[in-house]
Amino acid sequence: MKTRNDMMSTKKLNGTVIVTYRCNARCSMCNRYKAPSKPEEEISLDTIRKLPPMYFTNITGGEPFIRTDLKDIVRELYKKSDRIVISTNGFFTDRIVDLAKEFPQVGIRISIEGLEKTNNEIRGLENGYQRGYSTLKILRDMGMKDVGFGMTVQDRNAPDLVPLYDISDKMGMEFATASLHNSFYFVEAKNIIKDRPMVAENFEKLINRLLRSNSPKKWFRAYFNHGLINYIYGQKRLLPCDMSFDTFFIDPYGDVMPCNGTKDKEVMGNLNDQTWDELWNSPEAEAVRKKVRNCDRQCWMIGSVSPAMHKYIWKPATWVAVHKFKALFTKSPYSMYENRIVRDYRDGKVTKEELDKCSTCDLCAVANNGLSEASKEQLNDRSWEDIVNESIDSK
Ligand code: SF4
Ligand code: SF4
Repeated sequence: MKTRNDMMSTKKLNGTVIVTYRCNARCSMCNRYKAPSKPEEEISLDTIRKLPPMYFTNITGGEPFIRTDLKDIVRELYKKSDRIVISTNGFFTDRIVDLAKEFPQVGIRISIEGLEKTNNEIRGLENGYQRGYSTLKILRDMGMKDVGFGMTVQDRNAPDLVPLYDISDKMGMEFATASLHNSFYFVEAKNIIKDRPMVAENFEKLINRLLRSNSPKKWFRAYFNHGLINYIYGQKRLLPCDMSFDTFFIDPYGDVMPCNGTKDKEVMGNLNDQTWDELWNSPEAEAVRKKVRNCDRQCWMIGSVSPAMHKYIWKPATWVAVHKFKALFTKSPYSMYENRIVRDYRDGKVTKEELDKCSTCDLCAVANNGLSEASKEQLNDRSWEDIVNESIDSK
């Protein structure tokens, strides 16, 4: 008879590979660009070969296309993964297009943080919007199917949420959303939504748009966005978080972690030094799983929600069925006031200060960056700007 560990090691997993912590952007909600990994230490093809079979792999950073060997990484990952999606800020158009030519089936999500002015302010990249948008357009014109926008919604860009969705919809693209999170991964502890009702109202408009569409995928995205309203009001996740059970993140140093939402880096083991089975079935991995079971951070990011939506499908499916039924009679089948906390705040039963306390924002915290000692040391001799600029120039 198979033990739980045997079953866990044969089941296909959902993995995220953080190929680098270097990044050429200067986003206002993420300080990762100030804490780059040392290029020589970044995850190697040998380590990638040790990863388990996956039904889905997300490649992310930092900015993954800063690595000039990204094609080799993708080639290796396709040997063990059914589907790959790369998250990028879209700056390295030539590298993205070059990779797409070899792997037309790969998914590309370009993060665009609002319309032109808002995006460029948040992202800190000159011409960031134009570059991202034209990269997406080139990919679409090449006939790539799995391309889309990703937007991290905050006070500054919430009014752009629906206009940006409309652009993506017209281009026939995916539109992924997130909201502000704090964690070692973002090297940030002070992110917080200030005007919750305004942001929720914009999500409400988006949810109604998605529900009125003819795409079942969009109806489930509507549920995800409903969960984001719940999250920004600091409430308990709508679905359990099972990160580290059938899902994992691996960082540039080969450290395997449950997710990217924890305050400090949580390590299940290191794939440079261990085999996957040793690592996945280790007492350290079990200890991390125990922590996940008791985790109170309530993240609502697609990396942890998508597997949960598949696993507990009846819950989002019921929500979708109810709202599609309502859509037969009204143009706005969803109201943000369906969330009790949103009503309570409107009715003065709960204060802004009380809601702020439910968030992960900690104004006094010093964010841990999860860098290795060698990566920290390189910052003694050179600034992060120099390290990143060198990477941008490398061919
Ligand atoms: S959010 Fe992404 S693109 Fe922006 S600084 Fe952080 S890693 Fe770079
Ligand atoms: S809620 Fe889940 S994704 Fe968020 S920090 Fe906890 S374990 Fe990670």
